[in-house]
Amino acid sequence: MSVRLVGDEPGIIGVLDLQGGVHEHLEHLERLGLPYKRVKQASDFADLAGLIIPGGESTCLARLLTIFDLKDVILQHHSRGMKIWGTCAGAILLADKVVGEKAFLGLIDMEIERNGFGSQLDSFKSEAFIGAVSEEPVPLTFIRAPKILRAGEDVHVLLRMDDYIAAAENDRILVTVFHPELTGSLAFHRYFALKCGLNPTAEKSSAADSVWKNVSWMKLARIAS
Ligand code: GLN
Repeated sequence: MSVRLVGDEPGIIGVLDLQGGVHEHLEHLERLGLPYKRVKQASDFADLAGLIIPGGESTCLARLLTIFDLKDVILQHHSRGMKIWGTCAGAILLADKVVGEKAFLGLIDMEIERNGFGSQLDSFKSEAFIGAVSEEPVPLTFIRAPKILRAGEDVHVLLRMDDYIAAAENDRILVTVFHPELTGSLAFHRYFALKCGLNPTAEKSSAADSVWKNVSWMKLARIAS
């Protein structure tokens, strides 16, 4: 199947809506004044400048993508220029090497280890300066996160911590093993939007952050389904 684009340049950011933390990403995109939508089926991809694959459970997401025949659709839209950001489970799906398992999409040259910190009880919060992404420290939330053990030469490491890489990118793919959508920070959503060629309209992330609550996404659960 080949991809045919209809109309103008794709200008929407989609959030893959099969399983995982979908609303939280949609809410961050809304706060930045970006055009966004949920993505569930092949026809939803045509106008996407970028796709976010949320955190959740990578085995479950891979199964659903296979059952709904969406794996090749993602690969085709990626090859026509669609950018992809994988958070946590999404990063696992994008890696081209997964320790002890078969890679799924294989779109970024890196080796990732699922559950690299241990069980759900070993989840934690931290923060870091990530110069390319924000002038302010970025809050980091790790939930049964993977560790990126190694990245290839064409991969730019955005954040290295202890013995692992926590955020990285190539020209079309962004990966974070943590969850910016579960914090008040808009920095990574803004960064991804710029990577997609879109211009967030919200003026300052810090101003928007002050009104954020960790249940802010719930209004989207009611109105956007
Ligand atoms: N541990 C999950 C997996 O391996 C990822 C967890 C997450 O996305 N927060 O798929």
